[in-house]
Formats: sequence, structure tokens, C-alpha cells
Amino acid sequence: MAKTVNLATINWLFVCGLAFCLGGVVVLNLMPLSADCICPLKKSGFQNSEALQSVTQPPFDMPEHKLAILVPFRDRFEELLQFVPNITRFLQKQRVVHHIFVLNQVDRYRFNRASLINVGFRFTRDVYDYIAMHDVDLLPLNEDLHYEYPSDLGPLHIAAPELHPKYHYETFVGGILLVRREHFEEMNGMSNKYWGWGLEDDEFYVRIRDAGLQVTRPHNIKTGINNTFNHIHNRYHRKRDTQKCFNQKEVTRKRDRETGLSTLEYKISKIHQLSIDGITITVLNILLECNLNNTPWCDCSGIAAAAAAEEPIK
Ligand code: UDP
Ligand code: MN
Repeated sequence: MAKTVNLATINWLFVCGLAFCLGGVVVLNLMPLSADCICPLKKSGFQNSEALQSVTQPPFDMPEHKLAILVPFRDRFEELLQFVPNITRFLQKQRVVHHIFVLNQVDRYRFNRASLINVGFRFTRDVYDYIAMHDVDLLPLNEDLHYEYPSDLGPLHIAAPELHPKYHYETFVGGILLVRREHFEEMNGMSNKYWGWGLEDDEFYVRIRDAGLQVTRPHNIKTGINNTFNHIHNRYHRKRDTQKCFNQKEVTRKRDRETGLSTLEYKISKIHQLSIDGITITVLNILLECNLNNTPWCDCSGIAAAAAAEEPIK
């Protein structure tokens, strides 16, 4: 009898122990990221954090260079589902150590690609020594496009005008641009004045030139404007926000010597680790701040325009 009780007790203990362990695993998985995580990446944190390692495992412990893929983003989920596996496979072949950061603009202002890139840079600069400003809808097709660490001459423009399906002017630096950390800092990042579509990349070109840097582009590419990239952008479904209000037109035509990394104002409200087809990416929910006196065109809707018009002129 005593023997039976002992066996039953042991069985129960085993079952309870197993249930406790399984419960623990479930709770740990459901636990949200602590609010403490909403701060820039730090070197020590990165090395221990499995979540921030791309599925591209470095072939060595300390890779020479690390690339942060910064994707300005709002409401482009279908494109993201295509982009993530695509670019990951592409960069794995090149053994480029990288991680994808989706810069998800969650405030109610107009889209601001350049400020989002500034936020992404500030978040990743302690760990990554170069960035790719990368449109979510531009997929590289030609494997000779190497996402390598840019030379000391200046940024490496992957989406070169002779290769991009849509933009063909010589000073074009949009689409996909790789920039060394120290170069981006030297230029004070990008301007924060560009709300809505366009011109922020052209202003950045002038920053590159003014810093004494030059744009380099891939060599010996045998493909052309029709078969180097897949631009998954339907202009009817994904309309560009080309509206201009207040004095946006005049101001955004000029080089901005005032704003950039040093004047950037934002909050990161949440950080998500998201898995797409088994690839872990990081999504930053970003609330940009807009100074309505300096750039009232961050909101062209009637309400803000009317409020601004009622402001007494100082
Ligand atoms: N973008 C976005 N949501 C928007 C507008 C733009 O996510 O509402 C991002 C996206 O990464 C896109 C990039 O900004 O690829 C550049 O915008 P767009 O594709 O409209 O510019 P294009 O180069 O096609 O003129
Ligand atoms: Mn596009």
C-alpha cells in the first residue's frame, strides 16, 4: 500500500511539474516587451539578443560590418510581406550581416520618409556601422548589386538612375541608398521638413555634395531599367501624396541648413519583433512631432490650416 501511494505521489508530482513548466513557457511567450526596451540599441544588448539577429547568421562571431536596413513605412503591409523574404534571401547570398527595421509612422501627420530614416539611424547607430535607406516596394533582382560597406568617398546608390525603373536624373539618390554611419552623422542626417511625397532625397543629395562626399554607384551591371528592380508600386492603388499647402513649395525647394538628426523630435510608442516566413524583423512604432509654426504643411487638412491661419502673426 505504502509503495502504491508513493508511486501515485511521484506520478502526480511529475504531472504538476510538467504543467508548471508548460505554463511558464506560455506566459513568457505572451509577455509584452518591457517599456524599458524603447530606447536605442546598445552594443552589449545586441550581442545577447537573439531576437535582433536576422536569420542570416554571421559566418563569424564579430563581422566586420553590420547593415541596418531602414524601411520607411506606413500602410504597405502587402509590400512588406514580399519585401522581407526577398531581401533576406538576396542578402544571405551575399553574406551581408543585416537586420530589417520597419519605421512605422503612427502619428496623424503626413508621411515623412526622411524623419523616419533619422529615427531609424538614431535607434541603430550604436550597433550598425552602415544603413540602407530602403523603399519597401523596390526589390533588387540582379545579384551583382552588392550591398557592401560604402567607400570613404561617400554613399553607395544601389537604385542608380540608369537602373531604376522610374527615376533617371543624374542626381537621383532615392529608392535604395547605403550610407556609412560617420557620413550620415557628418551630414546631420536628413532634413525634417519634408512631409508628404518627394524632394527629401534631392535635398539629401545636396547635403552629400556640401559635405565634400560623392555618390558612388554599382559598376558593370548588365541589366537595365526594366529588369534590375521589381518596383511593386501601383500608382492608382498607392497614390503619392503630392499635395502642397502653406509655403511648402518655396521652403522645400531650398537646401535646409537648420534641421536634421540634431533637431529630430519623436517618440517610439512600441517596438515589435515580427516574424515573416520565419524571418524576425523589428517594427518601431514612431510618433513624429511637428512644429506647426515651422512646417505647417505636416497637416494640409482644413482643420489645422484654419487653426494656423487664426494664429496672430508675430
Ligand atoms: N511609403 C510608405 N507609405 C506611404 C508612402 C511611402 O510606406 O504612404 C514608403 C515606402 O517604403 C515607399 C517609400 O516610402 O516605398 C517611397 O514612397 P513611394 O513608393 O510612394 O515613392 P516612389 O519612389 O515610388 O515615387
Ligand atoms: Mn514606390
